[in-house]
Formats: sequence, structure tokens, C-alpha cells
Amino acid sequence: MLKSHRCGELRDTDVGERVTLAGWVHRRRDHGGLMFLDLRDSSGLVQVVVNPERAPEAVAAAGEARAEYVLQVRGEVVARRPGTVNEDLPTGAVEVAASELLVLNPSETPPFPINQETAVDEETRLRYRYLDLRRERMASNLWLRHRVTQQIRDHLGARDFIEVETPLLGLSTPEGSRDYLVPSRVHAGHFYALPQSPQQWKQLLMVAGMERYFQIARCYRDEDLRTDRQPEFTQLDLEMAFVEPEDILDLIEGLYVQLAAAIGPQFALSLPVPRLTYAEAMERYGSDKPDLRYGLEIADLSSVAASSEFQVFRDAVAGGGRVRGFAVPEGAGIPRREADRMTELAREAGAQGLVTFAFDGEGPLDGVTMDDVRSPVARYFDAETVVELGRRCGAARGDMLLTVAGEDGVTSRALDALRRHVAEQRELADPGTLAFAWVTEFPAFEWDDQTEKWDAVHHLFTAPFEEDLPLLESDPGKVRSHSYDLVCNGYEIGGGSIRIHRRDVQLRVLRTLGIDEAEAQARFGHMLEAFTFGAPPHGGIAMGLDRTVALFTGARDIRDVIAFPKTKSAADLLTGAPAPVSDQQLAQVHLALGASAEQTLTREGEEAGDAEVAGDAEI
Ligand code: ASP
Repeated sequence: MLKSHRCGELRDTDVGERVTLAGWVHRRRDHGGLMFLDLRDSSGLVQVVVNPERAPEAVAAAGEARAEYVLQVRGEVVARRPGTVNEDLPTGAVEVAASELLVLNPSETPPFPINQETAVDEETRLRYRYLDLRRERMASNLWLRHRVTQQIRDHLGARDFIEVETPLLGLSTPEGSRDYLVPSRVHAGHFYALPQSPQQWKQLLMVAGMERYFQIARCYRDEDLRTDRQPEFTQLDLEMAFVEPEDILDLIEGLYVQLAAAIGPQFALSLPVPRLTYAEAMERYGSDKPDLRYGLEIADLSSVAASSEFQVFRDAVAGGGRVRGFAVPEGAGIPRREADRMTELAREAGAQGLVTFAFDGEGPLDGVTMDDVRSPVARYFDAETVVELGRRCGAARGDMLLTVAGEDGVTSRALDALRRHVAEQRELADPGTLAFAWVTEFPAFEWDDQTEKWDAVHHLFTAPFEEDLPLLESDPGKVRSHSYDLVCNGYEIGGGSIRIHRRDVQLRVLRTLGIDEAEAQARFGHMLEAFTFGAPPHGGIAMGLDRTVALFTGARDIRDVIAFPKTKSAADLLTGAPAPVSDQQLAQVHLALGASAEQTLTREGEEAGDAEVAGDAEI
């Protein structure tokens, strides 16, 4: 090794030790004669002092060194003089008195400072990711990610799970997104697909008798990207034989409690993790990934609302819809402008509008008269009705009710948007809390108006409730599935299901999805066949590793916990991928470019040259 010790490890117990260090110049200060260098390596930093009287040659090298130069330093660990001890630095009690100093490699001036957390535009950070990762916050994110995967391996290893790698080159998997395709050279005109998840492989491993499998698996989905999506992302993927949903929920809950204790002890967790059915979650929060760090619970106001004189409410209920709402504690003073903004949100979600009721004063609602109620529709209501609306929402004087009328899909969407908005405006979500919750029993299918077909809500291998099987042919929308999501702070962080393990049931589900037996055989014949060789009952889950790590680091954007992420347009600004390939390479895989691709390439070439094109990418 070019070093005997790591910079960040030195303590006062090392005083007197002769050490060799190697690392980067974090900062350099010239104190007229004495020269101070903060030397950084992956363990942290330590102060190096170069004294011209003790080490005249070292002074010359130190004078040459600039930020991010790579140095090797020999010297002695000495205690810092009283008054110069740096309490904020783990190595702050000591410094290294240099006797020799060697520049191993100089550095250009970095495009942004490494030694401070200044705001740097995303494009520059991604273009120079290796420098971005030198910065403390990013480096510590990657270390935290490493500790998370270590904990996962320990936790599952101790419970008899086997880690198995599954192929990246495979058959297209029906996870519901577009595949990344890889053309085959040997089989002209044939393609592999990169896995959207190892779903089929892990089920086949259950048929293979592995019983408990996991993998830290890379998945690929060619989707339009949002902040919390990447074209390639990582899952903790697992599968178990002979299980019921409870077993998977307990296992994952135990894992996340351990992760929180080991990685994020500063976070408050509320245990046991609450479990809501999908129907309950939609009813109480209007969302299948509710943020439970705050209340703002939705109540059904239909029966009360329908007895009012307000025609919009009466019509909604008469038309089979409902009136639902929630109370904003101490929201009576919400200004007009803010109420207008909320009305806009409700409309964007598809509702006709938002109806508000503000209760003036303090204390319980007893004795409220219409003089205490402010609402744009007050004239249609008597005090008794409004008080009853308030009671159902658990309101007190000083609160404001937000109510929406319409079909459940619409009221849920609108009230979910309003809950999130109100929580954000009023800072109700404590960033120091991780509010996990299970959402279970999702519907198996949802109707797609565009294709006019049923789609699988989770995926097509998910087991329907046994007692709902007769509905597969008669009323698919009512079929419930043995599926579950883990949500945290308003994000879905994982999901899974008990799987179908019988050929006949799988065929029926495929038929419901509009896939006849011939197509089923062509696409899933290997699965259907495997099910006939004693496939055990099995189930599993996949947890989003990027999102999990982001939760523990407090990062909003999963790109901050991925070493080399891509932009929103799926470009890698560091290497320039994706990029054109030669005609020869295309010919080898039996491909020719279509006219539109040719045109784009010509335009790019003419306008800017390939390097700049990458720079234009949308982040
Ligand atoms: N394969 C599923 C997914 O990636 C997870 C699972 O069902 O285990 O979403």
C-alpha cells in the first residue's frame, strides 16, 4: 500500500506514530511560513502541517499542491496545541507533521468545489460524476447504500435465503412497461429483453425447490421518466415457497425495522406497521400510498350532504356518487387566495369544484350557529347539517372542512391531492418520521378505457382470492388479489403478491386479460409447463432499493443515491450513452436504421457534434 494509515482514522492515541498517508488535497492554507493541508481519503480528513524549518523539501511540494492534487505524505502524528483542537472533526485532536511530501498526480481546477456543499447544476454534476461523488454528502450516500445492502444480506442470510443471480438477457417480461431490447447476432431477427424484474425466474426457482430466494436485482423499464424513476433501477427481489401474505409482511417488516435501527436510528418509527386494505386506504386517504405522518382523514358525508338544500351535493348522491371531505385543523383562517388554489387542485383532479366550510371560534362544535360558519354555499345549509358534516370529519371550531362530490375515483383523487397540498403548506409531515404502512388486497384487474381490456393491477402472476375465482368470467373488476405494497411517507417502496401456482387458474387469468390459450402458450408456455411439475404455493415481493436508501438519507431524488444515474431523457452525460454504433455493428446484429433515425443522426451531427448533444439532455 502507498499508505500506512487512513486519514480519517487518526486519533490522539496515535500521537508519536510515524505514518504514511495518501489522498487528495481538500484545502490548503498558507500561514506565512507554516503550511496547512487538509488531506482527504475515503475515511475522512486530517490536517497536515508543513514546517519549513523541519522539512524544507516538503514545503516546495506543498506550495505546488492545489485543491484535489493527489499527495503522499510521510510524517509524525502530533497532538494539536490547546486552543487549536477542532471538536467538529473526528481527527481534530491531532495533526500530521510532514517530513516528506510527494505529488502523485496533479489536478485541474475542478468545475465545482469538492470541499463545500455548494449548489451545482445537475448537468455538470452528472457530466463530472466522479467529482460529484468525491463530495461528502454524495460519498456518504453511497456508503449508506452499501450498509443497507449489507444489512439485507445479513438479515436474509440468517433466515436461510439463497442469493441467486438471474439472467439479464431473457424473454420479455410482462411487468407493464416497455422493454429494453437487445438484438441477437446469432439468431437473426430475434431479440432478448432486459428484465423489467426477475419475476418469472424467481417463480421458476420456487418450482426448482429453492424455497427462499433473494437477489439485489437490476431492473430495466423503458418508461417516460419522473424524478423517482430511472431506466435502470435496483430492487431487493425475493420469493418464498409455502407462504401466506402474513409471512412476507412479517419478514419485510422485520427487515425494515432492523434497517431503521442500524442505518437510521434518528428516525421515529411507529410500530407495529399499520395494515390497511386497499379499500380502506382509498376510503380514508383517497390513495393507495397514503402519507400517515399526518391525519387529515377523509370521511363519508353523503347521507348528511344529501339532506341539505345544496343541489350539487344532492345530485351527486342521487347519481350514485358520494360527498367526502376532511377537516383542516385550525384552517378556518385559510385566505381566499389559498382556497382558490385548492379549488384549482380539486378541478385538476377531475372534480367539479371544492366546497369549504369554516367554523369560527374555538372549542367543540356545540352551539355553532350559521353566524359562526363561513362558506360560499352557506345559504343552502342550516347549522344542524353543517355541524353534523363537521362532526363526521372530527372538526372543532377554528377548523375548515374541505368537501368534494362525485364518483369515488374523482373524490379520492381530489382529496388525495388536497391532503398532500395542505400537509405541505402547513408542514404537517415530520421529516424525522418514517411512517410505514402495508396496503393489501388490491383489486386484481382494472379496466383500460383505451385498449378496452382488463389489465392486471399488480401483474398477471398474482393470485386472486380463491372465493373470487368465479368472478373471473362474470365480474373481473370485483376480483381481489393477494397482493400487498409497503408504503412510507407517501411513497410506494415495494410490492408483491402470492402467486398463481396452478396451470388452470393461470390460464383463466390470462383469458380475463384477453390472452387466449394459443398466445398464452407462445408467451408463457414455460411457466404453464413448470406449474404442471409440482409447483409449490409461493409468493414474494420486490422492494425498491433506491427509494429505500433515499428515505434513510433524506434525499428527495433517487439520483442522489445512485452512483451513475441517467437524466430524464435516459442519457448518461458522463459517457455519452446512448450513442450511434457503426454500420458494421448494425449489420452484425442484422439491423438497419429507419429513415427517422438516420435523419436525427444527420441533424445531430450537423448541428452540434455528438458531445454537445449529450449536454442538451433534459435532466
Ligand atoms: N416483480 C414485481 C415487481 O417488480 C414484484 C413482485 O411481485 O415480487 O413489481
